[in-house]
Amino acid sequence: MADYLISGGTGYVPEDGLTAQQLFANADGLTYNDFLILPGFIDFIADEVDLTSALTRKITLKTPLISSPMDTVTEADMAIAMAKFEQGFITDPVVLSPSHTVGDVLEAKIRHGFSGIPITETGTMGSKLVGIVTSRDIDFLAEKDHTTLLSEVMTPRNELVVAPAGVTLKEANEILQRSKKGKLPIVNDCDELVAIIARTDLKKNRDYPLASKDSHKQLLCGAAVGSREDDKYRLDLLTQAGADVIVLDSSQGNSVYQIAMVHYIKQKYPHLQVIGGNVVTAAQAKNLIDAGVDGLRVGMGCGSICITQEVMACGRPQGTAVYKVAEYARRFGVPVVADGGIQTVGHVVKALALGASTVMMGSLLAATTEAPGEYFFSDGVRLKKYRGMGSLDAMEKCSGSQKRYFSEGDKVKIAQGVSGSIQDKGSIQKFVPYLIAGIQHGCQDIGARSLSVLRSMMYSGELKFEKRTMSAQIEGGVHGLHSYEKRLY
Ligand code: GDP
Ligand code: GDP
Ligand code: 5GP
Repeated sequence: MADYLISGGTGYVPEDGLTAQQLFANADGLTYNDFLILPGFIDFIADEVDLTSALTRKITLKTPLISSPMDTVTEADMAIAMAKFEQGFITDPVVLSPSHTVGDVLEAKIRHGFSGIPITETGTMGSKLVGIVTSRDIDFLAEKDHTTLLSEVMTPRNELVVAPAGVTLKEANEILQRSKKGKLPIVNDCDELVAIIARTDLKKNRDYPLASKDSHKQLLCGAAVGSREDDKYRLDLLTQAGADVIVLDSSQGNSVYQIAMVHYIKQKYPHLQVIGGNVVTAAQAKNLIDAGVDGLRVGMGCGSICITQEVMACGRPQGTAVYKVAEYARRFGVPVVADGGIQTVGHVVKALALGASTVMMGSLLAATTEAPGEYFFSDGVRLKKYRGMGSLDAMEKCSGSQKRYFSEGDKVKIAQGVSGSIQDKGSIQKFVPYLIAGIQHGCQDIGARSLSVLRSMMYSGELKFEKRTMSAQIEGGVHGLHSYEKRLY
């Protein structure tokens, strides 16, 4: 192997480690624990590492983290927390009329969680603004006052600070800041309400600079659909609800059904970003890229709850799958999501170093406060349920997962996942910042200032890897202690 000279140094340093290409040159399937990345040179602080990365051809995230579309991982709470909840212009706010009552506001508060409500003549958007009611107007009213009409408690229109339709979000925010109020109604020339903005959102914008948003400053959200006829109806509903990305949910995505679905979506909603999958080979990826996907989800049988490899005999170790698919897909500008098998923050760094642009996590985010489901105790340990969408348990409860893993006509159902539990992890408000800092520190040790630098170091061969034997893996873990406590953050 050729030696090379470090400029200005004391002499030759022998070539060391393997390039990614060499690491995957023979046919052994490797996964994250089978290799390490050799450290590089640090000339920046970890905080500076830029984690911006592409989710699809057109959508970029500020952090490369996504939660799995699974019924024990992601519902609204998780999606909101992952993206950091915040709105720009609220164009369909809850609105009441002067003849509604204080009780109606309290009900809205219970139902929606906020009580700042603009009042229009008819109680609908697009009607003349006549006032506003906020918590301060009703907080101290007694039970008997719940029937009081809003016309009596609201701050009337002539006292309100409003902004004209057409203002930019920046201008509106400045007006809101100057007014020192909690809400700013936006009205058109006829004084009809067209939107509101909330001070809370201004603050969140300051507090959550990493939130990933679309052009309307709404948080990005993706949703999964299958490739059956009735998924087209779900697709329509999801697009109406403002989904930015559609993920085609299939454990083996290289099928005529998925290709037809990609064509259908691209024809009906040309601007919608579509992530196809799952795939683990370049040949599978090719068909979906040819069909027009904007991103690929990679992984088959590597998930923590998954028994696909055991049952179906198909799949691929995740390290190899990510490298092979990403290396192929990058030629077409299609980013890759490394889906499943992420057990530690180190695995996230390795997935990104192998060419993935983002990682999708199930077990890592399961049993957090934001994951669906209630905590329960077993042997004194606080747990939440976590199950594979291909487990019989999930099959029986949700028809969507049946479709991912079974054909409707199947007489015998073959489970591809298990159902289990995971210990309470607390809120992702603490866990995700830990993941972000961990990735930044990993990149710092490697000597990569950003994820795009990391990827180009890998493809140029500058980034060096090394395989780990079984005993090296044992050495790399905690060993030789009588007992220990493992606290991560
Ligand atoms: P409030 O003072 O009780 O109205 O609550 P905040 O202004 O502190 O928070 C309301 C949050 O709910 C903000 O993040 C809003 O963006 C969000 N929100 C979503 N839809 C609506 C809506 O229709 N009306 C209001 N007032 N807030 C909404
Ligand atoms: P809160 O802190 O969530 O109760 O809400 P705000 O700070 O928005 O409102 C405080 C009080 O000011 C309430 O009585 C509102 O009805 C009133 N208010 C809200 N917007 C305006 C405004 O533009 N001008 C005036 N004069 N009062 C307002
Ligand atoms: P984890 O992060 O827990 O290792 O893996 C989560 C991923 O496993 C999901 O994003 C999804 O791709 C995959 N998955 C979810 N449920 C099942 C299942 O029942 N069977 C299989 N084969 N994969 C599953």
